[in-house]
Amino acid sequence: MDYEAVIGLETHVQLKTKSKMWCGCANEFGAPPNTNVCPVCLGLPGVLPVANEEALRLTVLTGLLLNCSVSRVAKFDRKNYFYPDVPKNYQITQYAQPSTVNGYVDFELNGGISRVRVTRAHLEEDVGKNFHFERNSGVDFNRAGVPLLEIVSEPDITCADMAYEYLNALKDILVYGAASDCDMEKGMVRCDVNVSVRPRGAKELGAKIEIKNMNSFSGVRKALEYEISRQIEVLKSGGKLSQSTRRWDDVTGVTEEMRTKEHAHDYRYFAEPDLMPFEPRDEWLAEVRKRMVELPLARKQRFMCDYQLPASDAQTFVWDVPLGDFFEKIAKQAKNPKAVANWVINNLRAKMAEAPLTPSLSPSDGERVAKPGEGLADLKFKPEAILELVGLVENKTISTAIAQQVFNEMFDTGESPAAIVLKKGLAQVSDADAIEKFCDEVIAANPGPVADFKNGRAAALNFLKGQVMKRSKGKANPNLVGEILQRKLKQP
Ligand code: ADP
Ligand code: MG
Ligand code: ZN
Repeated sequence: MDYEAVIGLETHVQLKTKSKMWCGCANEFGAPPNTNVCPVCLGLPGVLPVANEEALRLTVLTGLLLNCSVSRVAKFDRKNYFYPDVPKNYQITQYAQPSTVNGYVDFELNGGISRVRVTRAHLEEDVGKNFHFERNSGVDFNRAGVPLLEIVSEPDITCADMAYEYLNALKDILVYGAASDCDMEKGMVRCDVNVSVRPRGAKELGAKIEIKNMNSFSGVRKALEYEISRQIEVLKSGGKLSQSTRRWDDVTGVTEEMRTKEHAHDYRYFAEPDLMPFEPRDEWLAEVRKRMVELPLARKQRFMCDYQLPASDAQTFVWDVPLGDFFEKIAKQAKNPKAVANWVINNLRAKMAEAPLTPSLSPSDGERVAKPGEGLADLKFKPEAILELVGLVENKTISTAIAQQVFNEMFDTGESPAAIVLKKGLAQVSDADAIEKFCDEVIAANPGPVADFKNGRAAALNFLKGQVMKRSKGKANPNLVGEILQRKLKQP
C-alpha cells in the first residue's frame, strides 16, 4: 500500500508594532527580564485592555497580503488555560469571528507554482517565556501581550519541502508588507505542525498529529520528514494512529508523544467582556489598503516578463528591493535590459558588497544575502550612466574588458563613461591601418608561432592575437585583429 501525507500549519507571527496589544509597554526584543511590563500585561486585577490600533491595521493588512476577505465584524474571545507564562490565565484571541478568512499563498515549488489556502488569520496576544535554571525557574513577561497573528492553513500541504517553501513564502510576504520583521532568531515566527497520513488517493483524512512550537523552518522540514515516515511505518506494520500532540527534539531528531486526545485542553472559550467588537469603517479600511505592496512572487514574474530577465536575476531583485528599484528605473529606457541587469548585479552589487552586509529577506532562516541597499543613495554616478556604458559597448566604442575598467573609474569618481573613455583614450581602435601596423610588427617579432600556425597549429593564432591586443593596450577591436592576422598569415 502507498501512503500520502496531509499537512496543515498554524503559524504565529509577531506583528511589527512599537507597543504591545493591550497596553503601552514596548514591543521590544532583548530587554532585561520583566522590564517591559505593567499591570495590564501582567494581568493584575481591575485593569482593562485598550486595543493597539496599529496592530489592528497590520492584522487587516496581513489579511490583504494573504488574499483573505476582511470581516466587517470581528470579535475577541478568551481562551482559558493555566500555565505559568500566561499571566491572566487566559489569552485574548479571535475565535468565533476572526478578522480575516479564506485566503491563499502562492509560491514556487519544483519549477511550478503551488497554492496553499489560508483558512484564517486572526489576532491574538503572545504569552511570556519560561526559563529553567539549575535550581529554580523564572518567567519573563516582556513578551506577554505582544500582538501575534495566527495564520491557519488548510491541510493542502503534501510534503516536507512544500511546508518549507510555504513558510518561506509566508515570511517573505509579511516582510515585504512590513507587517512583521519575521526575525527567526528573535522568535518572531513560531509554528504548530499538523500532519497525518492516509492511503494515497483516499478521501478521508487520517488521525491528526500535532507537533507543537517549532521555531525554525528547517526544523519543521526535518520534523515532518521524520514524522511522515514514522506514521507510515506504524500503519504498514498494522498499528493504529490516534489524534495526539508530539514534540520535536532537534538534538535526537525524533518526535515524542506529549499527550493524547483524552488529555486535550478544553479552552472554555467565551466572548471577551472588556472589548467591543472590531468593526472597521470604510475610510479606515481604505487607509490600510494604501499600504498594500506588490508581492514577491508577482514582482519576480513581472521582472522576468517585462525585462526578459532569467529567473535568477529576477530573484536577486526580489531579495534586494532597492537594487531592483534602481535597475527598473533605468531598464525602462534600455534597449537591452538584460545587459543593464548584468552590470547592476555583477558589477554594482559586487562593488557595494565590499561594504558590510546587512541581513535581510533571505531564502531561508539563518542564511544571509547581500542587501546593502543603503549604498545606492550615496552612489557617485547617475543611474543613467550605466545605460551610457552599455551603449558604448554595444556600438563597439569600447570592449567589454575595457568597460569593466570604465565602470570601476565611474564608480570611484562619478565621471561619465564617455568622459572617462575620452580622457584616458580608451576608445577601441577599429582603424584598419593602425591594426595592420600592429599585426605586421607582431608577425615580424614572432617567427616561431607564425611558423607553427602555417604548419597547421590553429592555437598559435590566439597567441599572436594576444600580442596584437597587448601592443594596442587592449584597445584594438578583437574581431578585426583576428581577421587581419589570418589574412596576412595565409599570404604566401
Ligand atoms: P484544531 O481545532 O484542533 O486546532 P483545526 O481543524 O482547526 O484543528 O486544524 C488545525 C490545523 O490542522 C489546520 O492547519 C488544519 O489544516 C490542520 N489539519 C486539520 N486536520 C488535519 C489532518 N487530519 N491532517 C493534517 N492536518 C490537519
Ligand atoms: Mg489548533
Ligand atoms: Zn504592559
